[in-house]
Amino acid sequence: MYDGIILGAGHNSLVLQAYLCKAGLKVLCLERRDTAGGGLTTVEDPKHPGFLHNTHSFYHRALNRMPWYKDLELERHGAVYIEPDFNVALLLNNGESLEWWTRFENTVASFARFSKKDAQALRDWRERFLPIVDKILIPESQSPPVPDEQRRKLLEKSQEGRFLLETSALSPLEFVLQEFEHPVIQAGLLFFNGLREVDLRCKGFGHHIAALLASSGKAQMCKGGSAALAQALVSAVIENGGEIRLKSEPKRILIKNEKAVGVETAAGEFFEARHFICSGLNPHQTFLELMNEEDVPKGWREKVKNFRYNLIGPLFGLNLNLHAPPKYTAAEKNPDLDRALMVILGLEHIRQYPEIVHHHERGTIPPTVMWGSCPTVFDGSQAPAGKHTAFMWEKLPYHLNGDPKNWDNAKDVHGKNMLALWTKHAPNLEHEIIDWFTRSALDTERTFPNMKEGDLLVGTFTNGQIGYHRPFPGAGHYRGHIKGLYLCGSSSHPGGNITGLPGYNCAQVISSDLNIHAPWAPEPALEHLKKLRR
Ligand SMILES: Cc1cc2nc3c(=O)[nH]c(=O)nc-3n(C[C@H](O)[C@H](O)[C@H](O)COP(=O)(O)OP(=O)(O)OC[C@H]3O[C@@H](n4cnc5c(N)ncnc54)[C@H](O)[C@@H]3O)c2cc1C
Repeated sequence: MYDGIILGAGHNSLVLQAYLCKAGLKVLCLERRDTAGGGLTTVEDPKHPGFLHNTHSFYHRALNRMPWYKDLELERHGAVYIEPDFNVALLLNNGESLEWWTRFENTVASFARFSKKDAQALRDWRERFLPIVDKILIPESQSPPVPDEQRRKLLEKSQEGRFLLETSALSPLEFVLQEFEHPVIQAGLLFFNGLREVDLRCKGFGHHIAALLASSGKAQMCKGGSAALAQALVSAVIENGGEIRLKSEPKRILIKNEKAVGVETAAGEFFEARHFICSGLNPHQTFLELMNEEDVPKGWREKVKNFRYNLIGPLFGLNLNLHAPPKYTAAEKNPDLDRALMVILGLEHIRQYPEIVHHHERGTIPPTVMWGSCPTVFDGSQAPAGKHTAFMWEKLPYHLNGDPKNWDNAKDVHGKNMLALWTKHAPNLEHEIIDWFTRSALDTERTFPNMKEGDLLVGTFTNGQIGYHRPFPGAGHYRGHIKGLYLCGSSSHPGGNITGLPGYNCAQVISSDLNIHAPWAPEPALEHLKKLRR
């Protein structure tokens, strides 16, 4: 008998579990794989010991500033974050580069080399959006969402709120075309929007790029690989008495008197829960696969069936073991380029986006735009002494030519094409490669069935699936349709990627429902919105 049971040991589940265990609850987490951490995966190449690859997440945005990172004392549990000052370089065919630095003035200078007007627009938007990010967007992401109508009414009362609503009304594409003039800058800004899995055509997201411009949170990497963060989270869970069962796949959520009371596993074990069952999985798994049809009302089942995954969510990965890091030709003029945390290749013009989207819709491979890193330039522990690992990712459709299984034959051919583009920019790769492998969106889904159709966001942001209506109306408060059933995965607000916030927000809801004292809980988003000055 446990106080609660969590399904899936992704980072959101572990964040939730650690908070509740710290509060004194006895909580079990069931995970189907042999490791905890979900997308916080670092694998050792089985053919080449010592070469580590972060096959799922690598860039962790402003991770060490997350409230749970501090509350759970993850540095004491072994996590160390690195944030190279030169954050991102978009390398162009002509050897020029558009750059993003932690030091804002360096980014402005890079923008100015393309367009003085755009450099000024960058400054202006950052200034206008800084208070919006601090007073509205960050508090909203770090607590359960406020109902749409109530939110709108509160936002309309303040100048900052009205400006946010006005900017949001645009799509990211409209925002960029309206506010910036240079096609490379427009392309670079939309790239970041895509990196956060937002559809560039989607109205309601016009504020997204402005928020990214204003945010001081840059890409970071975890020393030792992404799995080191998972290990720190596991350590926090264990220290507080939590239990994680690996290779343990739930088969059914047990319900008694309209309350979730336990879990039966595929191996035939039964676990009971006094207070709650919380799913870190997607809505299809939670409500359709793990629950009997008669236990889920028809209307709720329909909403689950309508839950959509992200067309531009899947990533294709090319991973290299190297004798030496890539040496970019462009670095001969600008040596900093060999030390950028993220390098983007193949993106030259904003015109490429409609083409890429079109290919995704048709299930075909677009001309390559890819981005990646050489982690070992910043952290030698991820390869044997003197050796290196590097990777590139590309957004490619899950249904390749109508069938995801086509990836099994096509993936290495495509990997070679990516390598050809990479070598064009970094010719030394031709003789530095020890070995390589690829991973397709189908491989992602096989590893993590919750990332259905390879969707790393675990549910698109379109189809109304945002904020109070994520994953769907009625379930936006991390609660299921019956007592004691909760959701804490990326299908809940604020969505996917390594933020830990769905788990953090769910911990606030469960603590409140169980009357658990939670001194760590932030002021609710509603209170922040009420405080906005007219
Ligand atoms: C190729 C790739 C690159 C990425 N890069 C980045 C990046 O650089 N930065 C970033 O922020 N994000 C990145 N992501 C996205 C990020 O990994 C996910 O959004 C994040 O891991 C979701 O976290 P989660 O806790 O919700 O669930 P997950 O991390 O998906 O964890 C879910 C857990 O549930 C388990 N599970 C699934 N089904 C069952 C079941 N039936 N029973 C029991 N357990 C189950 C899984 O094994 C897994 O451990 C990337 C993803 C991919 C695929």
